[in-house]
Amino acid sequence: MIDPFGRHITYLRVSVTDRCDFRCVYCMAEDMTFLPKAEVLSLEELERLCSAFVRRGVRKLRMTGGEPLVRKNVMSLFRGLGRHLQSGALDELTLTTNGSQLAKYARELADIGVQRVNVSIDTLDRDKFRTITRWGDLDQVMRGLDAAQQVGLHIKINAVALRGVNDDEFEDLIRFSHGRGMDLTLIEVMPMGEIGGENRLEQYLPLSLARTEIARHFTLTETDYRTGGPARYFTVGETGGRLGFITPLTHNFCESCNRVRLTCTGTLYMCLGQEDAADLRAPLRASEKDDLLDRAIDEAIARKPKGHDFVIDRRHTAPAVRRHMSVTGG
Ligand code: SAM
Ligand code: SF4
Repeated sequence: MIDPFGRHITYLRVSVTDRCDFRCVYCMAEDMTFLPKAEVLSLEELERLCSAFVRRGVRKLRMTGGEPLVRKNVMSLFRGLGRHLQSGALDELTLTTNGSQLAKYARELADIGVQRVNVSIDTLDRDKFRTITRWGDLDQVMRGLDAAQQVGLHIKINAVALRGVNDDEFEDLIRFSHGRGMDLTLIEVMPMGEIGGENRLEQYLPLSLARTEIARHFTLTETDYRTGGPARYFTVGETGGRLGFITPLTHNFCESCNRVRLTCTGTLYMCLGQEDAADLRAPLRASEKDDLLDRAIDEAIARKPKGHDFVIDRRHTAPAVRRHMSVTGG
């Protein structure tokens, strides 16, 4: 699949549920309203959709959410998609998780062929963790990390940089992650979805500032390591580990975008920062054969926009896109 700007679309991210067992302050309102279950695709339908993308050239699948591991019986989806790894049609099957259920599923994920997992941890302080996630338990997440490393999964830690909340912890997060052989990526807050009383302008910390601060303690050397995504990677001289910065607001990364995003209702978003979307549920359900679905996918890719237009400033405190990150899955 090649879009109008010559970009090869080889990466599909799938939000397998919009539900979550946490309520992170930058992601959801505490009294978040979730999709009615009837609108959500079955796991069999999600597998069929993902397989259509694999057939059309997707080489990497990432399951996300919401929290992918809280969806009932989600391992059946992983197992179904794992067969594309065995056939060689897929290079990578992976997930982004808050880690709360990792202790339970790490072994099975590894057996299926998952090799790398992104785990979101914004702070190493138990109380702060509870404040940021509202409902999360850091110890449980740490047990998940242990279990995942024991079965040989490679872990990347994702931390959203929050002004006045975890901006005094970057050094600790670097030492912790790199000390355990895990990459660390810092993420800028993106203006997605209403989040109740929280104010994005207050949360927003430009990572250019974070990097300057980090560079006072560590030697950062830019690398050409790329994942086709929005992260820029540096190696940290003192730890030997890798540090990424995802800066959608201060650095434009759209030229190399290789991905599209699917929601759990079968809506395909061609860009994280745009409202345009394609409904794939109707063609999926209209026929047991895949020709309608394949055509709908091709038409959607032909509309992939050139880039996003996120802005957070005093004039733009409303979300740039109405849907939450948990709908399209980060
Ligand atoms: N529940 C899983 C987790 O937390 O890793 C997967 C879904 S979560 C939406 C994916 C990533 O998006 C997480 O690393 C989370 O911190 C990040 N995220 C959520 N809302 C965000 C926002 N408004 N701006 C930037 N990152 C956000
Ligand atoms: Fe849940 Fe992940 Fe959103 Fe936190 S960031 S509320 S863990 S979906």
